[in-house]
Amino acid sequence: MADDQFKNVISHAKEYGFIFQSSEIYDGLSAIYDYGQNGALLKNNIKAYWWGAMVQMHENIVGIDSAIFMHPTTWKASGHVDAFNDPLIDNKDSKKRYRADVLIEDHVEKIRQKIEKEVGKAAKRFGDSFERAQFESTNPRVVGYHEKIRAIMDRFVKSMEAEDLADVKQLIEDEQIKCPVSGSMNWTDVRQFNLMFGTQMGSVAEGASTLYLRPETAQGIFLNYLNVQKTGRMKIPFGIAQIGKAFRNEIVARQFIFRMREFEQMEMQFFVRPGTEMEWYETWKQKRLAWHKSLGIDASNYRFHDHEKLAHYANAAADIEFKFPFGFKELEGIHSRTDFDLKQHEEFSSKKLQYFDPELGENYVPYVVETSIGLDRMFLAILSNSLQTEQLEDGSTRTVMNIPAFLAPYKVAVLPLLKKDGLPEKAREVMNTLKFDHMVKYDEKDAIGKRYRRQDAAGTPLCVTIDHQTLEDNTLTVRYRDTMEQIRIPMTELSALVAQKVSLSAQFSKL
Ligand code: ATP
Repeated sequence: MADDQFKNVISHAKEYGFIFQSSEIYDGLSAIYDYGQNGALLKNNIKAYWWGAMVQMHENIVGIDSAIFMHPTTWKASGHVDAFNDPLIDNKDSKKRYRADVLIEDHVEKIRQKIEKEVGKAAKRFGDSFERAQFESTNPRVVGYHEKIRAIMDRFVKSMEAEDLADVKQLIEDEQIKCPVSGSMNWTDVRQFNLMFGTQMGSVAEGASTLYLRPETAQGIFLNYLNVQKTGRMKIPFGIAQIGKAFRNEIVARQFIFRMREFEQMEMQFFVRPGTEMEWYETWKQKRLAWHKSLGIDASNYRFHDHEKLAHYANAAADIEFKFPFGFKELEGIHSRTDFDLKQHEEFSSKKLQYFDPELGENYVPYVVETSIGLDRMFLAILSNSLQTEQLEDGSTRTVMNIPAFLAPYKVAVLPLLKKDGLPEKAREVMNTLKFDHMVKYDEKDAIGKRYRRQDAAGTPLCVTIDHQTLEDNTLTVRYRDTMEQIRIPMTELSALVAQKVSLSAQFSKL
């Protein structure tokens, strides 16, 4: 069922011009995708909402746009050359490659599901008097499951930290984790694999140097932190935001735009006084969750997942997970990165990256709390959540994408009822009044019902129909995508109605 739903999302995304496989005529390029005519619009609208919520809504956050290529020492200092690795394992029977950590996490997730099952059964049995926390801490079976999860994760974290990859393999074997494709446990050894793409700058004769395509946008912010602080006269706490491409040579890239080798991140680094970082970490966790919830997607689709194994730079980290068609997975990360990055860049560049705090009268290297969200994952979250097949009263079905109106690619479709009698000319007139402010689509082909369905499936929140009465009294019909309700209004009221329905500023005021 979930599989079917996901397949449906992928084929719908193609059919309606949201996402195409890159280089399709050459049979595609693995885990690289292109955004089509509707996809590019939706993506730009998501960016605008994030950028507005961060930069426009916070006077102490500014935005930059740094280059993809950076001095190669950047990646030595940041730890990416030595430590941006994933543990890789192959199944010898299916020849499929996996991330060892993902195999283990999926295994743990199955145990978690067993807990949920027990909790569900007990909740039914006990009714109103059911107390989850008490049940989980006393029911022997559930206590056993929790202990098992803890033991697995502790051992995994310990062996990763000690770089004991043999023990990671042993753990997979001890837990009898099987290849989901072959069903066998015929595993290779676990190896580390660096995820950065390298390339050359300059001709070989001149002595070319190896550069990396950035695997995260954050380092462009760290390297510019002092430039921005000084020229923007920023006072701590302050943030720097950025949207841009990142590249990772992912080992396993099978889930459409969830895991791509070229993708886009929307990151914000918030620079704070040392010792206050945990407060800011909690604040940003809540603020980011509120941003997600403001989209009107049901709250049960989100959950926090606190990291057990922290990256080399972090002292606290959590993911906001979203319920994708293939289960709860990371959508955004909130990380307390300490002063690790700035200190490393100080050391490798021999330049001071300190801040003079006028209130304390002292210099320090700020601590950093970052929020990092994948734009493409956000796109997938919206697309998969909004695609619905509805049963209508007359027994028929309709496909509708109830994308939040302010994010929808096109806001209005203008439709002349017939392709004659001056209706197309009138419709163009209406379109011309709206197009300065909104993306408007004109469509005169096929019966009106079919055109409505086409717009429903593309996520257009409003259709405006021009008929013979429009020519007589300048009224027109507005049809709402979500309710299919139709109202007749004077043409003079249309602009205000559309503006109110798709307003980004109204959305900001909800944050
Ligand atoms: P994962 O555990 O899924 O590999 P990560 O923890 O490595 O992700 P981060 O380094 O925290 O991810 O990156 C921040 C965000 O960038 C992620 O929350 C995700 O939304 C996005 N992201 C990371 N890798 C990819 C990718 N390969 N394709 C698309 N988005 C990605």
